[in-house]
Amino acid sequence: MIRNFTKIIIKNNIRIYLSDFTDNVNQVLAYHKYKPFPNLILANAIVAFSPLRFLYESDNILIRIESNGAIKSLILEIKDENIRALISNPNIETEYDKSNFNSIPLILGLGDNGFLEISREVKNNFFRSKTLLAKSDIVTDLAYFLNKSDQIYSALINDVELFDDNPNVAKKAKNVIFQLLPNHTEEDKIWIEEFIKKYEFDKYSLLDYEKLIDGKLLEIKQIDASCWCSKNKIISTLKLLKEKEINDLFKKDKNIEVICEFCSTKYIIFKKDVKYD
Ligand SMILES: [Zn+2]
Repeated sequence: MIRNFTKIIIKNNIRIYLSDFTDNVNQVLAYHKYKPFPNLILANAIVAFSPLRFLYESDNILIRIESNGAIKSLILEIKDENIRALISNPNIETEYDKSNFNSIPLILGLGDNGFLEISREVKNNFFRSKTLLAKSDIVTDLAYFLNKSDQIYSALINDVELFDDNPNVAKKAKNVIFQLLPNHTEEDKIWIEEFIKKYEFDKYSLLDYEKLIDGKLLEIKQIDASCWCSKNKIISTLKLLKEKEINDLFKKDKNIEVICEFCSTKYIIFKKDVKYD
């Protein structure tokens, strides 16, 4: 069973994005091998933010949370049909790390003061907007961003759970986003509110939830989580340095080791790779 897809469904004047990103979350968690709580935060970010690839129809999106919380910042990048993500300070231990880590409120890592910034490229035009964190639980923060910055009524729900005996693996990592279309009526908004209340997202399989929505399936989209780093990209970046900086970098050793912070791949770079001609 493939667990990395977004189904785009139309119900009345509502567009619904129904996603399962369990495989993507597990791939990213395997790259990082964080502790349970940062895993939970990152998993929630991946399932909430990845559908933006389809909401915005942009293949180049950067999502950034900066806060006064222990994580300091969280970055998720979307490029073409891929995502990659990291937490800048993942060394967060909690007294729940042995059990019950699934129920830790995300605000304890995200902090109570910060912002969510989303930059995206659409047909060579760049857009960037920023809103304050509304509740530091990721879903409300993104809903607030979409409502305020894009002026589109949006409701979001995550359903993320890590395995109790293996917090590096997600048991489930799902998300649903309801968005009102421009020609919506008051009934559409009421329908969303009542539907969310009546059918608790975490109580149903994605397939059953889709049946309950009973809308028209428009498309099924897919997104992967393979990092797009490469030795050549690192060399191009290093080549931006001044000659003296390069000499300093390779002063002690003939080669340096560069580790991709998104996927932990190690690259060995030799001075001859970057030296000035
Ligand atoms: Zn990488």
